[in-house]
Amino acid sequence: MPTAQYQAVADGVFCIETSLYRNGLAACYLIREQDRLAFVDTGTAHTVPGLLAVIADLGLTPAHVDYVIPTHVHLDHAGGAGALMAACPNATLVAHPKGAPHLIDPAKLTAGATAVYGEEAFARDFGSLQPVPEARVIAADDGQTFDLAGRRLTFIHTPGHANHHGCIFDAGSKGLFTGDTFGISYREFDTAAGPWLFAPTTPVAFDPDAWQQSLDRIMAFTPAAVFLTHYCRIDDPARHLDQLRRSIKDLATIALDLGDQPRDGRKDRIKDAVTAHLLTDARNHGCALDEQRMRQLLAVDLELNAQGLEVWLERREKRGG
Ligand SMILES: [Zn+2]
Repeated sequence: MPTAQYQAVADGVFCIETSLYRNGLAACYLIREQDRLAFVDTGTAHTVPGLLAVIADLGLTPAHVDYVIPTHVHLDHAGGAGALMAACPNATLVAHPKGAPHLIDPAKLTAGATAVYGEEAFARDFGSLQPVPEARVIAADDGQTFDLAGRRLTFIHTPGHANHHGCIFDAGSKGLFTGDTFGISYREFDTAAGPWLFAPTTPVAFDPDAWQQSLDRIMAFTPAAVFLTHYCRIDDPARHLDQLRRSIKDLATIALDLGDQPRDGRKDRIKDAVTAHLLTDARNHGCALDEQRMRQLLAVDLELNAQGLEVWLERREKRGG
């Protein structure tokens, strides 16, 4: 029987380690109200046996799962959605209307992820994607609510990190499941100044202006805490909001400053600039980790951020003529 590391982080909210790359990088969540369950994000296909182990550990069965709600269809969040749905006979999959079709037919996701990660790494880290039957999928409107044994979950459209990103406000804990909309904040970078946050500008639909508006939208719910996929719970989000807003702006500016350079090798120059910026930013936050350790912890994000900013520049150039 597989085991899973998980911890209660609020009333009826469990943060589960997905074990992608290393511990502490990607979480997903289980909400429990009485004997009904809802997953927010799923980790990868490799994570699913661990998720089922958590259900068993709580004394329940997969038949108690009412909802599987990926915040968006990037594979660290939704890679396991198909396998989890196959294991949970009563569950409905809830996703953003622009994301849902890709979980029903994951061919494009597989192709896109193979382009980003390469075939070998994709298979190793993410496994394979199982389609979800269309009849079991709800494409959620902005503001649509879902009832978990009387506990209200509100699905909020939050484009910016991805055009099909959604966040879930949980009336039971007054917490907000933010996927990647509240940025990335690894606990290893916590200092006396609190959590360090930065924006994941992952391919292919980074949109800084939409992201800032999405932050207005989620903060209007005045969440007591945010539950990040990367990683875990952050209290008093209003206090950390400016850090994230600045990161979105700074990273966009880094890309724009390199925008008139030749495309050949531009992504690598963006990566160098993003790396220098984030390492300095972490230092200014008081992070005492040595540089090599910081680079190690941020390795995947530095590459994805650079790729995403390059794609963003190319999209702007196409639009501009
Ligand atoms: Zn993510």
